[in-house]
Amino acid sequence: MTQQDIERIKQLLASPKQIVIVPHKNPDGDAMGATLGLYHYLKKCNHQATVVAPNDYPDFLKWIPGDNTVLKHDSQTKECDNLIQKADIIFTLDFNALHRTGNMEPVLTESNAIKIMIDHHQAPDDFAAYIFSDVAMSSTCEMVYHFIDMLGDTNNIDANIATCLYVGIMTDTGSFRFSCTTSHTHRIVANLIEKGANNSQIHNNVYDTNTYEKLQLLGCALSNLKIIPESKTAYITLSQRELNKYNYKKGDTEGVVNYGLSLNNIVMAAIFIEDKQEGIIKISLRSKGDFSVNEFSRTHFEGGGHTNAAGGKSHLSLKDTVEKFISILPNYNKALNNE
Ligand code: 5GP
Ligand code: MN
Repeated sequence: MTQQDIERIKQLLASPKQIVIVPHKNPDGDAMGATLGLYHYLKKCNHQATVVAPNDYPDFLKWIPGDNTVLKHDSQTKECDNLIQKADIIFTLDFNALHRTGNMEPVLTESNAIKIMIDHHQAPDDFAAYIFSDVAMSSTCEMVYHFIDMLGDTNNIDANIATCLYVGIMTDTGSFRFSCTTSHTHRIVANLIEKGANNSQIHNNVYDTNTYEKLQLLGCALSNLKIIPESKTAYITLSQRELNKYNYKKGDTEGVVNYGLSLNNIVMAAIFIEDKQEGIIKISLRSKGDFSVNEFSRTHFEGGGHTNAAGGKSHLSLKDTVEKFISILPNYNKALNNE
């Protein structure tokens, strides 16, 4: 994003506008924190702003300030399409390609609104008039902070905005431990706390609100954990039957893949989750060091993401997906053993 872009966006935002803010499908903490953080900021600047999410998100995010204003495109399609059609500006946050919004892709593609992308995923498509893309950033929330800073407006960050942005930085950095966490990230987080983000309360709201069934499902996942030592890889499976047994709800498997990566001597971890309704196996991949699960997922599992955290999918059965995964691994043994 050039200085000229910033000046143009400043001009654009100088008078009240109709604005829609969109996160990716199955929004996570960063997507909801960034969209709602920007929402509060734009409202403060006298714009009409609405967050339109492609679908619902986990309960552990349903306390974020402004949560009750979010529209969901899958259940409120007409209302959402209307807003998108009459929007002057559409912000797209925490995703790099319109297909990541699922069924919202056509209405977003057809819209004549000025699109502004803020995102930290690799290889962004060029659907937006203004693109603020930086793969080195810990989170889109950190980028929204920078965006407000570039507009010269951090004085306008209040407790609501700070709380939202803290959520996404916290969740996307694994509570400030992943290598994307820089001294700069910590400085921003310090500013957010000063502006009213209650860090201890936010951690509690997101991480300490598990249900008993969610922990039982985690127990099931951990007992399904398998290790392939020669490939320094660990993987977990969860079948639809197992998910049903523990009354699975959206978000219940969030972060489970990281247990594989916590093992000594493991460089790549995967989780394969059966979704009978969508007819796919949802895959999450994590890695340590330079091994790129983004490339691995792009090549084999129709997905992508970041070097150390990516997602993908498979249309094979759960068993066949795992077999495919295991059969591919020997090609990567050298890279995996070099880490
Ligand atoms: P997760 O495994 O938590 O679903 O996703 C890990 C990272 O990969 C996130 O940054 C997410 O946005 C990205 N990601 C997940 N699924 C996909 C996908 O199908 N395609 C792409 N390009 N990125 C994905
Ligand atoms: Mn993110």
